Amino acid sequence: MNLKKYIRSIPNYPKQGILFRDITSLLEHKKAFHFTIQKMKEISKKIPHTKIAAIESRGFVFASALAYLNKKPLVLLRKKGKLPGTTISQKFKLEYGMDTIEVHKSSLNKKDKVIIVDDLIATGGTALAAAKLVSKCKAKVSAFIFLIDLFDLPGTKLLQSHGYKTYKLINFPGH
Ligand code: AMP
Repeated sequence: MNLKKYIRSIPNYPKQGILFRDITSLLEHKKAFHFTIQKMKEISKKIPHTKIAAIESRGFVFASALAYLNKKPLVLLRKKGKLPGTTISQKFKLEYGMDTIEVHKSSLNKKDKVIIVDDLIATGGTALAAAKLVSKCKAKVSAFIFLIDLFDLPGTKLLQSHGYKTYKLINFPGH
């Protein structure tokens, strides 16, 4: 199944110069969504893991289905201020300014091997921060799984240069 057909591309959203790759059109197609999760499951079967971590917010959609199928705990990596318990946080650079992601301190420990899931990798800033957050909890990052890799942007190479394994289902140019 060619999943690329189900991604809608919207120029100049959310701002001028960005070609937005919209996953809602894939989610609304039952066979495409099912195929996506099956493919992620196949990939994850080759990766030793104890938990699935999801990057807010579109990562939640795919990670939760995968965790359910694999019968693994789902850990939410959330934007600052969303988690009620004691958290560990990691700052990262956005195009303009800084952002922070957080995880509950109790969610991960040194015995954990974690697959991190997100919908898309572009510059890799968010994903690298997610990996740093998992490492701060003393857990190991087993791999990343993305639905979409914007292959001409530096994200995948950045993660690989830090020693992380990355998997993606489809490639698109960033522009
Ligand atoms: P980055 O930190 O640059 O790798 O950006 C990754 C995050 O931003 C992902 O969680 C994506 O959901 C979102 N994102 C970045 N670029 C795009 C794009 N062109 N289309 C859709 N989502 C994007």
